[in-house]
Amino acid sequence: MTRYFEVLQRDGAARIGKLLFGETAQTPYIIDTRTLSSEDSLITDAGSVWASGSFEEAERNFNKIREAVKDNSLVILPHQSYPPEVPEEIKDSATCRYDPDNEGPTGEISRPGCSSDASDMYIMEGAGCFENNARQFFNELIEMKKDIAADTAVYTPNICLPENLAMLLYLGVDIVDNTKALVAAHSDIFLTSAGRFYLDSLTEMPCRCEACAKTNASELREMEKRERAKILEKHNLNALEAELVLVREKIRAGMLREYVEGQCRTRPWLTALLRLADSEYEYLEEKSPLARSNEMLANSSESLSRVEIVRFAQRVQERYTPPEADVLVLLPCSAKKPYSISNSHWKFIKAIGDKRRFVHEMIITSPMGIVPRELELTYPAAHYDTAVTGYWDAEEREWVAGCLEKYLRKNKYNVIVAHVEDAYRHICEMVSERLGTEMIFTSSGSVTSPDSLKRLKEELSKHTQGRARNVEERKKDMMRCLADYQFGKGASEILVPEGTIIKGPFPKYQIFEGKKQLVTLIPQYGTLAVTIEGAERMIESGRYVVEIDDFVPKGSLLAPGVIKADPQIRPGDEVFVRGKNAVCVGRAAMSGTEMQESGRGVAVDLRHVKKVK
Ligand SMILES: [Zn+2]
Repeated sequence: MTRYFEVLQRDGAARIGKLLFGETAQTPYIIDTRTLSSEDSLITDAGSVWASGSFEEAERNFNKIREAVKDNSLVILPHQSYPPEVPEEIKDSATCRYDPDNEGPTGEISRPGCSSDASDMYIMEGAGCFENNARQFFNELIEMKKDIAADTAVYTPNICLPENLAMLLYLGVDIVDNTKALVAAHSDIFLTSAGRFYLDSLTEMPCRCEACAKTNASELREMEKRERAKILEKHNLNALEAELVLVREKIRAGMLREYVEGQCRTRPWLTALLRLADSEYEYLEEKSPLARSNEMLANSSESLSRVEIVRFAQRVQERYTPPEADVLVLLPCSAKKPYSISNSHWKFIKAIGDKRRFVHEMIITSPMGIVPRELELTYPAAHYDTAVTGYWDAEEREWVAGCLEKYLRKNKYNVIVAHVEDAYRHICEMVSERLGTEMIFTSSGSVTSPDSLKRLKEELSKHTQGRARNVEERKKDMMRCLADYQFGKGASEILVPEGTIIKGPFPKYQIFEGKKQLVTLIPQYGTLAVTIEGAERMIESGRYVVEIDDFVPKGSLLAPGVIKADPQIRPGDEVFVRGKNAVCVGRAAMSGTEMQESGRGVAVDLRHVKKVK
């Protein structure tokens, strides 16, 4: 736990925070390595044992610096860095003997099993060696994050460039430095967020910063080496700063993932990093919010594997229980969301007509896979936009077919009607063949043509028996499915029990038991907001519960007040707070694990607080 760093805003693993010493600074933060040994610097390096000659000397140096800077500067503990290939035993024996006994903010090298847990910032040893080695960099970062408290800052020295800054921050790095940008300037390398250029190869200078505005490429080439390096240095640092500000804006907008999916193309190792991070799903998933207020743009093949898409697909398979029906109707997605307000879906619904009582509707879509009608409002099913050309590549087809196949292996229907064309039809045929299950195709040419709609109507008119649901039951099924999706299987029995009634117009449904309201549907995200009555019931189940001591919180619950939190809590989740003297309900500002590990920051924004004896 740290007293000197606080995370204020999160976008997945990326975060905006504050260094709470000296002249407080915002993170992500770029250390100016030119002033790292100066006592005026916000972050000061007590120095390498290699340089000072002995550990004792380094320690004396550290104490001297600490005395001088008090707690106005974060002091990096004496360190003895090794290249990554040096065996752990040798590293351990050299550095595992320093236990700082001091008051102010400190930073130290993170070394599994031998770092103290008292520092505010942890440094990835030899981070610079991992440039171009995505696997090693990512593994080191994951190991390091496992080892340190969630609320401490992470510093990766000597690796940052404008081209990789966004990716480093996306993966959860808080502090970087300008070493590489400075070295590049002295090697006649012109840095941009789109990659680097040798000055020799530049005809024009692709920048209008104050350093570049005063000169041009040929003039710069003619200059004295030292003068030239000075201008390049200014430009490179400007490029780094500009990219940092851009990334912070992307974090604030909840759009860093979209940016990184494009930005990672500047270097193969950055694209590899994104793919590795997606393959280690848990790392990013734990930190990713339940919903975002902005539109989710699915623009690249990596969009298929981003947390929001994979989480939705997993919850459909694991948490969702379909309503009872004998007939499944498969429909194509629409550009307009939620699907049921689109023109095409209006036509489908009209053609299905009063047979809607007998059928269960499922929408096929890329990149979401399959969206049951009950979850069409749920983030990101109603919140994505994707490039539409009519062409679906093999991976896209396989992903969607895989989702449908998995679902149909678990959930059985007597009849499956597929009202689809083109790629959608191909996907249905693939699944039908794999499962040996017959599907009835009702569309010919266009799904909205009068002929196709007529066939859909005729096909469904044959099914007038079996399990049927009236309008009221269908509304309730929707609320049940949403409860299970959000809080796990079985939550529907707690929040939408037998005997409850639905009030309110679509989609602002509310569930009442007698006069007591239990939940309200929030149409914007397709999530449920729970009342105190509902919360008291959920607390008994133990799910999404945050435990506190005997105080009565007001407005928001801070992390130090949290005793225990359900590890399945994600930022944005509806959570239930239980203490000796209070029951509350609110929205999580951080993950459950982070609530338990953090010494600062808002854990839950509370909506209702009820005092109890
Ligand atoms: Zn410039």
